[in-house]
Parts: sequence; C-alpha cells; structure tokens
Amino acid sequence: MDDKNKYIIAMDQGTTSSRCILFDRKGNIVSEAHREFAQIYPKPGWVEHNPMEIWSSQLGVTMYAMGAIGAHFDEIAAIGITNQRETTIIWDRKTGQPIYNAVVWQCRRTADMIEEMKRQGWSEKIKAKTGLLPDAYFSASKIAWILDHVDCARERAKRGELAFGTVDTWLIWNLTGGKVHVTDYTNASRTMLYDIHKLCWDQEILDYFDIPRSMLPEVKPSSCIYGETDPSVIGAVIPIAGDAGDQQASLFGQCCFRPGDVKNTYGTGCFMLMNTGVDPIVSENGLLTTIAASTGNRVEYALEGSVFIAGAAIQWLRDEMRMLRSSPQSEEYCTAVKDTNGVYVVPAFTGIGAPYWSQFARGTIVGLTRGAQKEHFVRAVVESLAYQANDLLEAMEKESGLRLQSLKVDGGACANNFLMQFQSDISHIAIERPSCIETTALGAAYLAGLAVGFWKDKNEICENGICERMFQPEISKDRRETLKRGWKRAVKTALYWAELEEQDQQAAGAGSSEAEQCKDTEE
Ligand code: ADP
Repeated sequence: MDDKNKYIIAMDQGTTSSRCILFDRKGNIVSEAHREFAQIYPKPGWVEHNPMEIWSSQLGVTMYAMGAIGAHFDEIAAIGITNQRETTIIWDRKTGQPIYNAVVWQCRRTADMIEEMKRQGWSEKIKAKTGLLPDAYFSASKIAWILDHVDCARERAKRGELAFGTVDTWLIWNLTGGKVHVTDYTNASRTMLYDIHKLCWDQEILDYFDIPRSMLPEVKPSSCIYGETDPSVIGAVIPIAGDAGDQQASLFGQCCFRPGDVKNTYGTGCFMLMNTGVDPIVSENGLLTTIAASTGNRVEYALEGSVFIAGAAIQWLRDEMRMLRSSPQSEEYCTAVKDTNGVYVVPAFTGIGAPYWSQFARGTIVGLTRGAQKEHFVRAVVESLAYQANDLLEAMEKESGLRLQSLKVDGGACANNFLMQFQSDISHIAIERPSCIETTALGAAYLAGLAVGFWKDKNEICENGICERMFQPEISKDRRETLKRGWKRAVKTALYWAELEEQDQQAAGAGSSEAEQCKDTEE
C-alpha cells in the first residue's frame, strides 16, 4: 500500500476539550487524543476561554495523536476542522495576539444588548436574513461587546488592525502562520451577521453593531483547500481542506446528504438537524434555518432544533436525586418495569424550547399514584428525552413537508438501548446507530478528504458508514398515540404552572400598587 497519504487528521475543537482523531480510508479511528482546558467564569452567566490555550491544546493533541502511532507528516493527506460554534475571538493581525479572551457561545453577557435589539423591532429582519432568532448565543453581540470594552478596539478595528474569527478561523490562522483568514458557510451562518440567502456579510446588521467589515474572514465552502500549514508551526506542509461547525459536521459525518435526512445528538442537551437540500425552510415554531456542510460550491440548508435538558436529566437523577450510580445504570431501571405506570416527567429545568417556547416553565412530574416506584420514575425521565426529540421531529416534518426516512443518532446517551427503542416506538421511525459515534470529527475528516481526493465522492464515504445497530418500531399506533397524548398533557401542565405563576405575579404587582395608592390617600 502507498505509504503516503494514509490518514486524514480531524481537529475537533469542542467547548470543554480539544480532540484530534486520525482516520484511515475506511473511516476507522487509527489514533485519538484529547485534552480538557480551562473554563473561565469571570461573573455569573459569563463564560470565557483562553484563545492561546485553545490553540496550544489543539496543537498538542494533534502532535500526541500522531506520535502515538508514529505517523509521519507525509502520511497525512489533509486536515479537517470542526469546532464549538459561535464562540468569538478577536486578535491583532500583526502580532497574532488576542485582544480579549474568547467569549464562549454559552456566555449571556450581551443578553441586554439583544433585548434592546428586539425592542427596536429587529427580530423578523434577523430571521429573514440570517435564519436565526436574535440571541446572545451568536457571535454578533459578542464582537460588539469586545469592541465596546477593550481600549481603542473599535478604532483599531476600523483601521484594519484587528481580525475576528470563530474558533475554526482562529485555528486556521495559527496553522497557516497568520496567512489565511477564512471561515466556512456553516460557521458564518452562526454569527448572526451573515445573509444565508445572498451568501454575504450583511451590511445593515454590521452597521447596527458598528462592526467594521474589514475584521471579518472570507467565507468559503466547507470542503475546499483553505491553505496549507506553515512548516514552522507544524513541521510540514499539509493542506487544510475541511471546515464546519460541530453540529453541521456531525450531520455530514452521519452521511445525511439527502433532503429529509436527520440526525439527533443525545448529549447534555439534544441537537437535531435535518438536511433540507438547496431550499432554506423558514420555521414558524422557533426552529433555526442554517447552512449545512456540503461539497463543491452548492449550498445546502438545514433546519436545527435543540432540547435544553436531555442527558442532563439523567445526570440530575444521578447527582441530585441520587437514584443512580451512573448514567448507563438508568437502562437497568427502565427495563425492570413494563411502563412508567402513568408517570410523566417534563425536565423543563430552564424553561421549554421548540415548539412550545416558555422560558418560565419548570420541571413537572405528573401521574403519580401510590404504586409509582423508583423504576417508573427513572423510566419516565429517560422517556422524556425521546418525547422531546419527537416534538422536534414532528415540527421539522410538518414545516419541511419532507417525509423522514430514518433518524441517525449519536452522543453519549445514544448508548442507552432502551432509549433508542423507545424513540423508535414513539416516533414510528427506524433509528440507526453508527459504529463510529465520533461523527463530528468524522464529518470534518470527510469534508477534508473529499476536497483532496482522498475519497472519491459521497458514495464512497457512505459505504464506510457502518450501522452498529438499527431499532425498529414495535408498538401499535393506538399505544403510541395514547403515550404521546399523555406527554402533551404533561407539557401543558408545565406550561400552565408558568402561566399561573405569571398571573400570581401580576396580581401581587397590582395588589402592591393598590396598597401603595391606599397609603397615598391615607397620607
Ligand atoms: P456532551 O458532549 O454534551 O458533554 P456527551 O455526548 O458526552 O455529552 O453525553 C453525555 C450525556 O449522556 C450525559 O448527560 C449523560 O448523563 C448521558 N448518558 C451517557 N450514557 C448514558 C446512558 N447509557 N443512558 C442515558 N444517558 C447517558
């Protein structure tokens, strides 16, 4: 076999760790290394990373993964990058030094800025141009915040001295020794500055945030040669040929290439993305429209929805309720009983998202009887992950008019066989669990490998996609409908609780202002 070009490097730069995986032509993992790095919480609700630590940890794990199998640089055909999305870094073009820490996607420091934007009536316009709903998650307000708070930053930016990038852009800049300032469509589509229809930075939004256009990277397809590594940085010249945000990379890694193909990642929360082909679909239920990773110059779109609390509910059973020793143990309890005995748990700990949208809803348990046991309760929590994912699936199906073929799954909680079977039952859909669940890194590798001819075409990589296990629906339509109706009632209860609380607060507000008035009259 040819000793050259045997592997693709995937750099998977996530929120809590930097990971590097080397893949061979069959899509097998031949080496892997990862390292956690510091999470910085300067104030409640604020989250930062040190950009230099992002870079050094990513470079370090890459060297480690190569060294672990004694791989030489001439055995690497290309590098693909996937990254935590939206996280914002601004640096000096000359020195390469960041002017502030990376402001992480989770950071809420610009929430007021976004509220003001909504008050000024920008919501519809943002949705129409960017496919997003105004939110502090996205990069736009984070850039504005750094420019507002770092001395002379805006003037320097206007003079063209500063560069902005999401984490992919920052890594490519460093890998190329500061020669290349680019991003890809998928990452650009999460900045809230990019017109996903016209495929350009939007001047009107840039003006609103007073962000100079000169700071922004060039936007390219997700699979193309962006540049080459600088030999002084990594010891060799290797093409950097793939780039996509983590969720889009996982959609690609799962080979969801056709309209209607959908994947769900069961992690702390759930991220569901559906390929909608060349047509962007505008959601009426709060799903986001975003650009999917694709090959060539053809731009494809995806609908995206998320569940805030998924695996986190299992962690809650383990850590706060102290009902489990480990998350995988939940499966034993689920299979020890034949159903939940009528119990439903809605884990709306921080509100409830699509398609219900109430930030005031809170966790709710309904249907308790004297016969309810711990097993029923644990099972109800595990089932809640599937019900929430099903709500997203139904919304996507309705809005896209696309019939779903199957649901591809990944993320930590997809290891739970009970959960996968229940998802299949409740959604009446085949569930496909791949043998390689590192689908995010795999997606980045595929994008890079396709750009340099390591893989011929998408058909060839689909052949790599080995399905480890398939789950097929096993319950009757009646049973499914009954269970789903129960879930909807449980969600309504959680929403009603929030509504009653709001009424109480209004009444208390009115009561206190009446009391104030009485006091005034008495005086
Ligand atoms: P993230 O990337 O969001 O940190 P992971 O994909 O690593 O998440 O998945 C971890 C989550 O999956 C945790 O919330 C954990 O509770 C849950 N989890 C892991 N294994 C299981 C299991 N066998 N059954 C149910 N939940 C699980």
